[in-house]
Amino acid sequence: MKNIQRQVIIAGNWKMHKTISQATALTEEIVAAVTNEKNLPEIVVFPPFTALSAVEKSIKKGPIKLGAQNLDWHDEGAFTGEISPLMLTDLNVQYVLIGHSERRQYFGENNTTTPLRIKAALSHGLKPILCVGELIDEREAGLTDAVVSRQVGAALGELTAEQFAQVVIAYEPVWAIGTGNHCAPAEANRVCTMIRKTVAALLARLEDSGNDLENLNANHLPILYGGSVKSSTITELMKEEHIDGALVGGASLKSEEFVSIIEAASDRVKRAAKAASTASR
Ligand code: PEP
Repeated sequence: MKNIQRQVIIAGNWKMHKTISQATALTEEIVAAVTNEKNLPEIVVFPPFTALSAVEKSIKKGPIKLGAQNLDWHDEGAFTGEISPLMLTDLNVQYVLIGHSERRQYFGENNTTTPLRIKAALSHGLKPILCVGELIDEREAGLTDAVVSRQVGAALGELTAEQFAQVVIAYEPVWAIGTGNHCAPAEANRVCTMIRKTVAALLARLEDSGNDLENLNANHLPILYGGSVKSSTITELMKEEHIDGALVGGASLKSEEFVSIIEAASDRVKRAAKAASTASR
Protein backbone atom coordinates (compact mmCIF):
# COMPACT_ATOMS: atom_id res chain seq x y z
CA MET A 1 0.00 0.00 0.00
CA LYS A 2 1.17 3.53 -0.76
CA ASN A 3 2.57 5.26 2.34
CA ILE A 4 0.37 8.34 2.84
CA GLN A 5 1.89 11.13 4.89
CA ARG A 6 -0.88 13.35 6.20
CA GLN A 7 -0.20 16.92 7.18
CA VAL A 8 0.23 17.35 10.94
CA ILE A 9 -1.47 20.53 12.17
CA ILE A 10 -1.38 22.35 15.50
CA ALA A 11 -4.01 25.09 15.61
CA GLY A 12 -4.52 27.63 18.41
CA ASN A 13 -8.04 28.99 18.89
CA TRP A 14 -7.74 32.16 20.96
CA LYS A 15 -11.54 32.59 21.15
CA MET A 16 -12.54 35.99 22.62
CA HIS A 17 -9.15 36.60 24.22
CA LYS A 18 -6.30 39.06 23.54
CA THR A 19 -6.30 42.73 22.71
CA ILE A 20 -4.17 43.83 19.77
CA SER A 21 -1.07 44.42 21.90
CA GLN A 22 -1.51 41.13 23.79
CA ALA A 23 -2.05 39.23 20.53
CA THR A 24 1.07 40.78 19.00
CA ALA A 25 3.17 39.89 22.05
CA LEU A 26 1.92 36.28 22.08
CA THR A 27 2.54 35.88 18.34
CA GLU A 28 6.05 37.29 18.59
CA GLU A 29 6.91 34.86 21.39
CA ILE A 30 5.68 31.88 19.35
CA VAL A 31 7.45 33.08 16.20
CA ALA A 32 10.72 33.52 18.13
CA ALA A 33 10.48 29.99 19.56
CA VAL A 34 9.69 28.13 16.33
CA THR A 35 11.54 30.03 13.60
CA ASN A 36 14.53 27.97 12.42
CA GLU A 37 13.12 24.79 13.99
CA LYS A 38 12.99 21.73 11.73
CA ASN A 39 10.15 19.19 11.28
CA LEU A 40 7.51 21.68 12.30
CA PRO A 41 3.85 20.77 11.94
CA GLU A 42 1.62 23.27 10.14
CA ILE A 43 1.03 25.90 12.84
CA VAL A 44 -2.09 28.05 12.64
CA VAL A 45 -3.30 30.70 15.08
CA PHE A 46 -6.89 31.95 15.23
CA PRO A 47 -6.92 35.38 16.91
CA PRO A 48 -10.11 37.41 17.34
CA PHE A 49 -11.07 39.43 14.23
CA THR A 50 -9.81 42.68 15.77
CA ALA A 51 -6.26 41.31 16.05
CA LEU A 52 -6.01 39.59 12.65
CA SER A 53 -4.23 42.50 10.98
CA ALA A 54 -1.66 42.91 13.76
CA VAL A 55 -0.98 39.17 13.97
CA GLU A 56 -0.62 39.00 10.19
CA LYS A 57 2.22 41.55 10.41
CA SER A 58 3.97 39.59 13.18
CA ILE A 59 3.80 36.20 11.46
CA LYS A 60 5.42 37.55 8.30
CA LYS A 61 8.65 36.82 10.16
CA GLY A 62 7.98 33.10 10.68
CA PRO A 63 6.36 29.83 9.67
CA ILE A 64 2.96 30.45 11.27
CA LYS A 65 -0.30 30.61 9.30
CA LEU A 66 -3.25 32.87 10.05
CA GLY A 67 -6.80 31.68 10.69
CA ALA A 68 -10.16 33.29 11.52
CA GLN A 69 -12.69 31.92 13.98
CA ASN A 70 -15.75 32.17 11.73
CA LEU A 71 -17.03 33.72 8.50
CA ASP A 72 -20.35 34.63 6.90
CA TRP A 73 -21.22 33.00 3.58
CA HIS A 74 -22.09 36.25 1.77
CA ASP A 75 -19.42 38.33 0.07
CA GLU A 76 -21.00 41.56 1.31
CA GLY A 77 -24.37 43.00 2.26
CA ALA A 78 -26.65 44.15 5.05
CA PHE A 79 -25.46 41.63 7.66
CA THR A 80 -24.54 43.75 10.67
CA GLY A 81 -21.76 42.28 12.77
CA GLU A 82 -20.70 39.64 10.25
CA ILE A 83 -17.33 39.14 8.50
CA SER A 84 -17.15 38.05 4.87
CA PRO A 85 -14.65 35.69 3.17
CA LEU A 86 -13.43 38.65 1.09
CA MET A 87 -12.56 40.57 4.25
CA LEU A 88 -10.55 37.61 5.49
CA THR A 89 -8.60 36.98 2.29
CA ASP A 90 -7.89 40.73 2.21
CA LEU A 91 -5.94 40.14 5.45
CA ASN A 92 -4.10 37.09 4.07
CA VAL A 93 -6.10 34.74 6.27
CA GLN A 94 -5.60 31.14 5.09
CA TYR A 95 -7.72 29.02 7.44
CA VAL A 96 -11.15 29.42 9.02
CA LEU A 97 -12.89 27.51 11.83
CA ILE A 98 -16.38 26.39 10.91
CA GLY A 99 -19.05 24.93 13.18
CA HIS A 100 -17.13 25.33 16.43
CA SER A 101 -19.30 24.01 19.26
CA GLU A 102 -19.40 27.44 20.92
CA ARG A 103 -20.89 28.83 17.68
CA ARG A 104 -23.39 25.93 17.64
CA GLN A 105 -24.22 26.38 21.34
CA TYR A 106 -24.53 30.18 21.60
CA PHE A 107 -24.93 31.60 18.08
CA GLY A 108 -27.31 29.30 16.20
CA GLU A 109 -24.74 27.49 14.05
CA ASN A 110 -26.18 24.17 12.86
CA ASN A 111 -26.03 21.48 10.16
CA THR A 112 -27.84 23.82 7.74
CA THR A 113 -25.41 26.74 8.08
CA THR A 114 -22.11 24.80 8.24
CA PRO A 115 -22.26 23.72 4.55
CA LEU A 116 -22.92 27.32 3.48
CA ARG A 117 -19.85 28.53 5.35
CA ILE A 118 -17.71 25.62 4.13
CA LYS A 119 -18.58 26.34 0.49
CA ALA A 120 -18.03 30.09 0.93
CA ALA A 121 -14.62 29.47 2.49
CA LEU A 122 -13.55 27.06 -0.26
CA SER A 123 -14.73 29.29 -3.07
CA HIS A 124 -12.45 32.04 -1.73
CA GLY A 125 -9.43 29.76 -1.29
CA LEU A 126 -9.73 29.57 2.52
CA LYS A 127 -9.06 26.20 4.15
CA PRO A 128 -11.94 25.29 6.46
CA ILE A 129 -11.39 23.40 9.70
CA LEU A 130 -14.79 21.83 10.29
CA CYS A 131 -15.42 21.27 14.01
CA VAL A 132 -17.66 18.38 15.00
CA GLY A 133 -18.43 16.68 18.30
CA GLU A 134 -21.10 15.35 20.59
CA LEU A 135 -22.64 16.72 23.79
CA ILE A 136 -22.23 14.71 27.00
CA ASP A 137 -25.91 13.66 26.93
CA GLU A 138 -25.46 12.38 23.37
CA ARG A 139 -22.36 10.40 24.40
CA GLU A 140 -24.13 8.89 27.37
CA ALA A 141 -27.05 7.91 25.14
CA GLY A 142 -24.66 6.08 22.77
CA LEU A 143 -25.23 8.63 20.01
CA THR A 144 -21.65 9.86 19.49
CA ASP A 145 -21.05 8.24 16.10
CA ALA A 146 -24.51 9.12 14.77
CA VAL A 147 -24.22 12.79 15.80
CA VAL A 148 -20.67 13.25 14.53
CA SER A 149 -21.20 11.46 11.21
CA ARG A 150 -24.36 13.53 10.64
CA GLN A 151 -22.39 16.75 11.25
CA VAL A 152 -19.69 15.61 8.80
CA GLY A 153 -22.19 14.54 6.13
CA ALA A 154 -24.24 17.74 6.42
CA ALA A 155 -21.22 20.03 6.12
CA LEU A 156 -19.27 18.18 3.44
CA GLY A 157 -21.85 16.10 1.57
CA GLU A 158 -22.08 18.40 -1.43
CA LEU A 159 -18.41 19.13 -2.04
CA THR A 160 -16.53 18.25 -5.20
CA ALA A 161 -13.44 16.06 -5.09
CA GLU A 162 -11.24 19.11 -5.62
CA GLN A 163 -12.85 20.91 -2.67
CA PHE A 164 -12.49 17.85 -0.42
CA ALA A 165 -8.73 18.02 -0.79
CA GLN A 166 -8.70 21.39 1.03
CA VAL A 167 -10.71 20.34 4.08
CA VAL A 168 -9.52 19.65 7.63
CA ILE A 169 -11.78 18.18 10.32
CA ALA A 170 -11.43 18.65 14.09
CA TYR A 171 -13.14 16.14 16.37
CA GLU A 172 -13.99 18.11 19.49
CA PRO A 173 -16.24 16.35 22.01
CA VAL A 174 -18.18 19.25 23.53
CA TRP A 175 -17.85 17.88 27.07
CA ALA A 176 -14.05 18.03 26.74
CA ILE A 177 -13.82 21.67 25.62
CA GLY A 178 -12.56 24.02 28.31
CA THR A 179 -13.27 21.49 31.07
CA GLY A 180 -9.80 20.02 31.66
CA ASN A 181 -11.46 16.66 30.99
CA HIS A 182 -9.95 15.38 27.73
CA CYS A 183 -11.15 12.37 25.79
CA ALA A 184 -8.99 9.23 26.24
CA PRO A 185 -6.63 9.05 23.23
CA ALA A 186 -7.84 5.57 22.17
CA GLU A 187 -11.46 6.72 22.17
CA ALA A 188 -10.59 9.95 20.32
CA ASN A 189 -8.76 7.80 17.76
CA ARG A 190 -11.79 5.53 17.42
CA VAL A 191 -14.06 8.49 16.63
CA CYS A 192 -11.48 9.99 14.23
CA THR A 193 -11.33 6.61 12.44
CA MET A 194 -15.14 6.64 12.18
CA ILE A 195 -14.94 10.18 10.74
CA ARG A 196 -12.44 8.99 8.13
CA LYS A 197 -14.81 6.17 7.17
CA THR A 198 -17.66 8.69 6.86
CA VAL A 199 -15.53 10.79 4.53
CA ALA A 200 -14.59 7.67 2.55
CA ALA A 201 -18.32 6.96 2.04
CA LEU A 202 -18.90 10.55 0.84
CA LEU A 203 -15.99 10.22 -1.58
CA ALA A 204 -17.31 6.89 -2.86
CA ARG A 205 -20.58 8.63 -3.71
CA LEU A 206 -18.64 11.22 -5.69
CA GLU A 207 -16.76 8.51 -7.53
CA ASP A 208 -20.05 6.82 -8.42
CA SER A 209 -21.19 10.08 -9.98
CA GLY A 210 -18.16 10.18 -12.27
CA ASN A 211 -15.67 12.40 -10.36
CA ASP A 212 -12.00 11.65 -10.88
CA LEU A 213 -10.60 10.75 -7.45
CA GLU A 214 -7.25 9.51 -8.66
CA ASN A 215 -5.22 11.60 -6.20
CA LEU A 216 -7.65 11.72 -3.35
CA ASN A 217 -8.91 9.33 -0.73
CA ALA A 218 -10.02 9.72 2.86
CA ASN A 219 -6.54 8.81 4.06
CA HIS A 220 -5.29 12.21 2.88
CA LEU A 221 -7.60 14.21 5.10
CA PRO A 222 -6.05 15.67 8.27
CA ILE A 223 -8.23 14.99 11.33
CA LEU A 224 -7.38 16.86 14.53
CA TYR A 225 -8.48 16.27 18.10
CA GLY A 226 -9.62 19.19 20.27
CA GLY A 227 -10.76 19.37 23.87
CA SER A 228 -8.52 20.35 26.80
CA VAL A 229 -5.29 19.50 24.97
CA LYS A 230 -2.22 20.43 27.03
CA SER A 231 1.52 19.85 26.80
CA SER A 232 1.04 16.99 29.29
CA THR A 233 -1.52 15.18 27.07
CA ILE A 234 -0.43 15.89 23.49
CA THR A 235 2.29 13.22 23.33
CA GLU A 236 -0.15 10.36 23.94
CA LEU A 237 -2.65 11.81 21.44
CA MET A 238 0.05 12.10 18.78
CA LYS A 239 0.79 8.37 19.05
CA GLU A 240 -2.69 7.58 17.70
CA GLU A 241 -2.80 6.66 14.03
CA HIS A 242 -5.83 8.72 12.98
CA ILE A 243 -5.16 11.87 15.03
CA ASP A 244 -3.14 14.23 12.86
CA GLY A 245 -2.79 17.15 15.24
CA ALA A 246 -4.74 19.27 17.68
CA LEU A 247 -7.08 22.22 17.90
CA VAL A 248 -6.02 23.88 21.13
CA GLY A 249 -8.05 26.48 23.03
CA GLY A 250 -6.93 27.51 26.53
CA ALA A 251 -3.42 26.08 26.21
CA SER A 252 -2.75 28.17 23.08
CA LEU A 253 -2.99 31.41 25.06
CA LYS A 254 0.41 30.94 26.74
CA SER A 255 3.38 30.79 24.40
CA GLU A 256 5.42 28.31 26.46
CA GLU A 257 2.56 25.82 26.66
CA PHE A 258 1.63 26.19 22.97
CA VAL A 259 5.27 25.81 21.88
CA SER A 260 5.60 22.60 23.96
CA ILE A 261 2.54 21.24 22.12
CA ILE A 262 4.14 22.17 18.78
CA GLU A 263 7.36 20.41 19.82
CA ALA A 264 5.47 17.20 20.68
CA ALA A 265 3.81 17.30 17.26
CA SER A 266 7.23 17.84 15.63
CA ASP A 267 8.26 14.42 16.93
CA ARG A 268 5.34 12.91 15.00
CA VAL A 269 6.41 14.79 11.84
CA LYS A 270 9.93 13.43 12.32
CA ARG A 271 8.71 9.84 12.85
CA ALA A 272 6.50 10.03 9.73
CA ALA A 273 9.34 11.38 7.58
CA LYS A 274 11.63 8.58 8.80
CA ALA A 275 8.97 5.93 8.07
CA ALA A 276 8.45 7.35 4.58
CA SER A 277 12.16 7.34 3.79
CA THR A 278 12.53 3.74 5.06
CA ALA A 279 9.53 2.66 2.96
CA SER A 280 10.94 4.26 -0.19
CA ARG A 281 14.29 2.43 0.07
C1 PEP B 1 -11.39 24.81 21.38
O1 PEP B 1 -11.60 25.99 21.59
O2 PEP B 1 -11.61 24.35 20.25
C2 PEP B 1 -10.87 23.97 22.46
C3 PEP B 1 -10.60 22.72 22.20
O3 PEP B 1 -10.68 24.56 23.68
P1 PEP B 1 -9.86 23.93 24.93
O4 PEP B 1 -8.54 23.44 24.41
O5 PEP B 1 -9.70 25.07 25.89
O6 PEP B 1 -10.67 22.81 25.48
